[in-house]
Amino acid sequence: MLELKTGSCLCGAVRFQVDAPLKAPDACHCRQCRKHSGHFFASTDVPKRALRIEGEDQLSWYHSSAKVRRGFCKHCGSSLFFDPPARDWIGIAMGAFDSPTETHLEMHIFTAEKGDYYEIADGLPQHPS
Ligand SMILES: [Zn+2]
Repeated sequence: MLELKTGSCLCGAVRFQVDAPLKAPDACHCRQCRKHSGHFFASTDVPKRALRIEGEDQLSWYHSSAKVRRGFCKHCGSSLFFDPPARDWIGIAMGAFDSPTETHLEMHIFTAEKGDYYEIADGLPQHPS
């Protein structure tokens, strides 16, 4: 029996459960993820069928491109979801999960667009795009 992974936004209006082991997350340093999250965006992709959201009507969605919408709490603004509607998976912000997540960051992506105010020095693989 799998242990459910749970999480929420900052104010608790949106809560979620994932009924699947969490894949190793990546950290995206692209301009859109930095703007939306306030820094860089660490997220894990889960099958949509494994995700249950409570308070879904408390989410707002911003279409950051034709293929992706980003979900955030309309009350507290927490960045929560990276959703390509045409796909069967959804990215969930690692910062929204309750501990323990029992996973660990795997790599950095879009490092060519990273901010100039920090270094990536954790030894994990870095991909420019
Ligand atoms: Zn909230």
